[in-house]
Amino acid sequence: MLSLIFHKKKGLRLQTDHPVPQHGYDEALIKISLAGVCNTDIEITKGYMDFQGILGHEFVGVVVKCREKGLMGLRVVGEINIGCEKCSFCRNRMKNHCPERSVAGILNKDGIFAEYAVLPIDNLHTIPDSVSDEEAVFVEPLAAAFEIIRQVDVIPDNRVCVLGDGKLGLLVGQVMSLIGCEIIVVGKHEEKLAILKNKGIRTVLSSDFNEKGFDIVIDCTGSPDGIGIALDIIRPGGRVIIKTTTSKKRGIDLNHVVVNELSIIGSRCGPFPVAIKALEERKIDVLPLISKVYPLNEGIQAFEHAAIRGGLKVLLSM
Ligand SMILES: [Zn+2]
Ligand SMILES: [Zn+2]
Repeated sequence: MLSLIFHKKKGLRLQTDHPVPQHGYDEALIKISLAGVCNTDIEITKGYMDFQGILGHEFVGVVVKCREKGLMGLRVVGEINIGCEKCSFCRNRMKNHCPERSVAGILNKDGIFAEYAVLPIDNLHTIPDSVSDEEAVFVEPLAAAFEIIRQVDVIPDNRVCVLGDGKLGLLVGQVMSLIGCEIIVVGKHEEKLAILKNKGIRTVLSSDFNEKGFDIVIDCTGSPDGIGIALDIIRPGGRVIIKTTTSKKRGIDLNHVVVNELSIIGSRCGPFPVAIKALEERKIDVLPLISKVYPLNEGIQAFEHAAIRGGLKVLLSM
């Protein structure tokens, strides 16, 4: 099968003769329809996570082989963390933190930039007919945006600032606006901020931004500098949520965190059912976030496009 593979020495390349993966008893073979290139994929090609193999973790596809007949032929998206099912994390519904976990396209398991992929049946979620493939491919990053309100109590009285108008920033901005709190999204690109402005969400260009004293600041900049800016504009006792993963190390002044009794919360993968429901109920607009769809055999060009800073979502069609 055709697949997009990253190798530390050989770099990113297309392989036309990769064997179709075998599915185990509790797994399903999925024919991938559409996949999203994520900033994490780009960071992996720069050395993040030390990963080698088929890249990719955002997808929608169709189940073509599995023991559960009810799933056959259905459109699905899939959670990417695969736990050992035995440790205390796995037993307490925290398989995302299983020390033995693998993560599709990120850690010890091939990802989904290929014609076929295998995932545990338990990781799959079916997609309602009213949600298109182009929308469903956003479930994984949208779930990551919803993770914030699973981790942190946000009330309508809170002043919230989202740093970054990348793909994730635009999703997080929309999710936070559902709560009805005072929110501002800071970005560098007028045309991207306009997507939120059209939904009545307050936005500002970073060059014009000079507000401080937020109760909650969410770093979606994708830049090692984002956390420093967040710490600068948070109120004492406030909460900073970090969504940015980067291959570069970050230097921050922890004295500022101590003196101002700040909470710093890392935030990664989130609840898929919540994200699917939000798409079904038309609460979140994801289609304006699509920049271009490339066929998988133009995967290298797709990556070059996705790596341009400030771009929107690049999709791969299988
Ligand atoms: Zn991602
Ligand atoms: Zn485990």
